[in-house]
Amino acid sequence: MHDPNCIFCKIIAGQIPSRKVYEDEEVFAFHDIHPWAPVHFLMVPKLHIPSMAQVHTGHEALLGRMMALAPRLALEQGCRPYPDGGFRIVANTGAEGGQEVHHLHIHVMGGPRPWLKG
Ligand code: 5GP
Ligand code: ZN
Repeated sequence: MHDPNCIFCKIIAGQIPSRKVYEDEEVFAFHDIHPWAPVHFLMVPKLHIPSMAQVHTGHEALLGRMMALAPRLALEQGCRPYPDGGFRIVANTGAEGGQEVHHLHIHVMGGPRPWLKG
């Protein structure tokens, strides 16, 4: 299920270029175009889910896979290991949650501080 007006659906489809971090049948990850931190990439389900607010029990396996994949990708992208390194995971949801792109995404940020934000 894709939304033809969704910028992240277009990135997943390769219609808008991105710096890819990871891809499988269900998940796509790419570097944020405006990074806040030395490592900053986004993980998205290929399925167009507008936000965390639309998540239901049918998505448990998908979101579980994304969360389990995040630490591996964070290390691959240059985050130092826990506990001295680590990373931050953020899922902005809705206007008051600071969400700008309405295709569910997880920000994964890390690397030496200070960061631009966060
Ligand atoms: P949100 O505020 O919705 O959680 O964050 C959306 C993120 O998507 C922002 O950090 C923004 O920089 C990133 N973004 C928006 N458009 C594009 C794009 O075309 N390409 C990439 N790589 N990132 C984008
Ligand atoms: Zn989408």
